[in-house]
Amino acid sequence: MTRAGLPAGIRHAMLCAMGEFPPPSHHHGDPAASLRGCIDLHMHSSFSDGEMPPEYLVEWAAELGLKAISLTDHDTTRGLQRAIARGRELGVEVIPGCEISVKLSGGTFHLLAYFYDLNDEGFEGTLRDIADKRETRNRKIVASLAEHGMPLTYEEVLEEAGEAVVGRPHIAAVMERNGYVTSRQEAFDKWISNDGPCYFEKDTFGPEEALKFVREHHAVPVIAHPIWLNRGGLDKTEEYLKQLKEWGLMGLEAVYPDHDEVWTEGLKEIAKRLELIVTGGSDYHGGKTKPHTTLGHGEGGGFKVPGELLEALRKAHEQAAR
Ligand SMILES: [Zn+2]
Ligand SMILES: [Zn+2]
Repeated sequence: MTRAGLPAGIRHAMLCAMGEFPPPSHHHGDPAASLRGCIDLHMHSSFSDGEMPPEYLVEWAAELGLKAISLTDHDTTRGLQRAIARGRELGVEVIPGCEISVKLSGGTFHLLAYFYDLNDEGFEGTLRDIADKRETRNRKIVASLAEHGMPLTYEEVLEEAGEAVVGRPHIAAVMERNGYVTSRQEAFDKWISNDGPCYFEKDTFGPEEALKFVREHHAVPVIAHPIWLNRGGLDKTEEYLKQLKEWGLMGLEAVYPDHDEVWTEGLKEIAKRLELIVTGGSDYHGGKTKPHTTLGHGEGGGFKVPGELLEALRKAHEQAAR
């Protein structure tokens, strides 16, 4: 099955969406040809800050010929059942995934968790507790913006978020709509970035706690986009990863659109030395959040995630489940 028998309507909707944010040039011709048998283990749906519903991502994956994907919404697993159901219909394996925010001095980093048990309610339950704390933080930001002469209601923010986990992008969108800033980027730059005047830190996991949580639920913890650990260079990154490995880390997302060849190869070598697996994904969100990233293809030419990486992830899961 290649085009997966997609109904014309879906294909049309997909191409319209892609047309709004033009795909990389190598999408021309047969889009399935170059990615057949590849995977994409990192993407977001409208259940977090992505723009597309879970089914849409699976449909696009089928169109591209990807054999497996993982839906890795931020701090929630709620979109997963829908993705899995659509995946069964279209012959795309959907791996349970989630991208967890972890507190790091001066910011956050992202930890991917793969292959948690879908029947394990404690996993989503803990994430929901954290989301509640996050809501307190969001309300503080909204109150602070009002104090700075930008009144908005939390209801407006909730409405903006829809079914997604509420976050700063939604606050930024309301600020833009109310005319307080001319773009979402300006909202971040001036007011709500990590060092902005209306920012409050998220109450969330610390690194050791997050790794313990993932391992306790027999899932595989993988550092997302290690370049954004912001340790400054590969050597410092390796030092930090060594520490994380002691706390239970099992893998590195070395194959990632923001990694140039030096980072990709350097991270692969680190993974070998530290006995970590390598994973990869596009981190597709949709055209508004990350305009240059497309599903499966990442950003621009040449990006793909080979199918073999899934086998390593599966083995790591067997080990994690023991
Ligand atoms: Zn991330
Ligand atoms: Zn992500």
